[in-house]
Amino acid sequence: MSTAAKKPMTARLNERLATSGFRFTPQREHVYAVLLQKRDHPTAEEVFIRAKRTMPDISMATVYNCLDALVKSGLARQVTLERGAARFCPNMAEHSHFYCDQCQSVFDIELPPESGWALPAGFKAERMDVTVHGRCPACDKAARARRRGATPASNEQYRAKAATPTDEHSDGDH
Ligand SMILES: [Zn+2]
Ligand SMILES: [Zn+2]
Repeated sequence: MSTAAKKPMTARLNERLATSGFRFTPQREHVYAVLLQKRDHPTAEEVFIRAKRTMPDISMATVYNCLDALVKSGLARQVTLERGAARFCPNMAEHSHFYCDQCQSVFDIELPPESGWALPAGFKAERMDVTVHGRCPACDKAARARRRGATPASNEQYRAKAATPTDEHSDGDH
C-alpha cells in the first residue's frame, strides 16, 4: 500500500478508535488493513494468518482484541452465518450477504429494494441482515462444466429425455 493511500485510512482509523475510547495501535491498524485488503469475509483465524505474514509477532489474542475494537468502533462488522465461525466485513454500508454453499465464500450483495419485503401490517423494518444461499459464479461454472463433461451415454439420455415432449414420431406410452 502506498503512503498516499495509507494516510487517510490511518487518520480515519485513529479518529474512529478514539471516538469509541480505543487507543490507536500499530496492531489495530494492521488488522484493519488486512480486512480492507481482501474483502472476502475472513474468520478471526484467517485474519490472524494474514496478519502474521507481515507482522510475525502478532498473537491470536491480539487479533481478537483488534477485531473487537474495530467492530465496537464501527469500522468493521461481524457477520454471523448459521454455521461456522463469525466472519469480518469492513463494508459498513447497509448490505446483505451471499453465501456459496459449495465453497463457503461470502460475498457482499445489495439489499433488495424496500418494496421487496412484504412485512405483515404493523411491522417496521429498521435493519436487514439477510443471507442468500446458493452457488457463486465460479462454483456454478464448475458445476456446469462437470455436467457438460458427463459421459456421452448420459448426455444422450439427457437429450432423449428432453426431446420427448415434442417428439412427434414417438409411439407414445400413455
Ligand atoms: Zn463458490
Ligand atoms: Zn459484507
